[in-house]
Amino acid sequence: MKVVLVGGGGREHALAWKLAQSPRLTSLIAAPGNPGIAAHARCVPVKDGAIDDVVLLATRERVDLVVVGPELPLALGLADRLRAAGLPVFGPSQAAARIESSKVFAKDLMARDGIPTAQYRVFARADAARAYCRELGAPVVVKADGLAAGKGAIVCPRLEDADNAIALCLEEGAFGDAGRTVIVEEFMTGEELSFFALSDGASALALGAAQDHKTVHDGDQGPNTGGMGAYSPAPVLAGALEERVMADIVRPTIAAMAKEGCPFQGVLYVGLMMTAAGPRVVEFNCRFGDPECQVLMPRLGEDVLPLLEAVAAGRGLPTGVAWRPEAAVCVVAASGGYPGAYETGVPIAGIDEAGRLVGVTVFQAGTAMREGQLVTAGGRVLGVSALGADVPAAIDRAYEAMDRIRFAGLHFRRDIGRRAVRRP
Ligand code: AMP
Repeated sequence: MKVVLVGGGGREHALAWKLAQSPRLTSLIAAPGNPGIAAHARCVPVKDGAIDDVVLLATRERVDLVVVGPELPLALGLADRLRAAGLPVFGPSQAAARIESSKVFAKDLMARDGIPTAQYRVFARADAARAYCRELGAPVVVKADGLAAGKGAIVCPRLEDADNAIALCLEEGAFGDAGRTVIVEEFMTGEELSFFALSDGASALALGAAQDHKTVHDGDQGPNTGGMGAYSPAPVLAGALEERVMADIVRPTIAAMAKEGCPFQGVLYVGLMMTAAGPRVVEFNCRFGDPECQVLMPRLGEDVLPLLEAVAAGRGLPTGVAWRPEAAVCVVAASGGYPGAYETGVPIAGIDEAGRLVGVTVFQAGTAMREGQLVTAGGRVLGVSALGADVPAAIDRAYEAMDRIRFAGLHFRRDIGRRAVRRP
């Protein structure tokens, strides 16, 4: 099979690395890819948001499958365009991608079908939004409706913070059109978990769970980032809970999407809060998480290509997937200053050395090749991923590998996966 992979981050490197192991793959083209992906694919300089160019590339190359990594091209309608051109695609239509690109769409869908989530209301007017905050009582969460690069959800410990968040969205237009409508919702307490399921539009297949670490500093301190690390499996989802998430959340959501006339074909990422009353939805995303994908792919004990193909073909899914017995941990190596301002073009060393350790794979996210030298090109530079007999063993290996990585300004969290180990 000839495959185009859209995207160029750590998530896509993990997908490319796993796809490259498929005996059924004949060639892989990445748009735009990155220097790490270049080890497995021919990279072409087509940006993931340039959907006309991606369609042109996929048709010209007569590929058998297009795998879309990031949310932006999906929200722009890339999957619709490819399907109209007769090309199988792993990734939902623009209408189905609203499950991520419009929080109002996602919340209304859940409300109609009784899918457990935080109580909420939708507002375009600040005074009404502020009145509802008082009805709920602090803490509350204020969310911009549209895509806001992960910054659109504001947790407000006090009513005063909620007033400011509402002003930011509705009065100051901080998120542009994405924030012209806001959701005010109840604050949920519990442990957060990322759950993944594949769907061909009709049925769903559980792909397991991972937990990520959003803040920049150890002990969940400091500002939020795109994710500083992840581990999988997640002990919080032990036992019958996975089936409960499938039965109460995933299957009803897939059915509701089909009923709405926008069947979901791709990977559904369910952001969950494990509350005292059971798992409830924080948000949905319409693609793999990053860094979660960098722990899921190493753990997958079978060829990923037939799974992606089954989703794209809409012809039914297998009833289960095989997992390796090991746990996986991914620690992100970030640029100095990230998530604030940071320098790029800093030379990187030690990737090969780290990757020679048993069970370790170094995925590249924000990197570039300049005159034969690998340099930093983003805030999250590398994902150092390791398999181990259990989470503690995987942690040790990931940090052993991280010790081999060198670039000026490099910083990383030292407590990735510790939550899984230090459980009561
Ligand atoms: P979202 O963009 O909706 O995923 O929200 C980003 C983060 O805000 C989540 O990962 C949670 O940590 C937090 N959050 C969002 N909604 C809620 C909620 N209703 N209760 C508690 N925390 C929330």
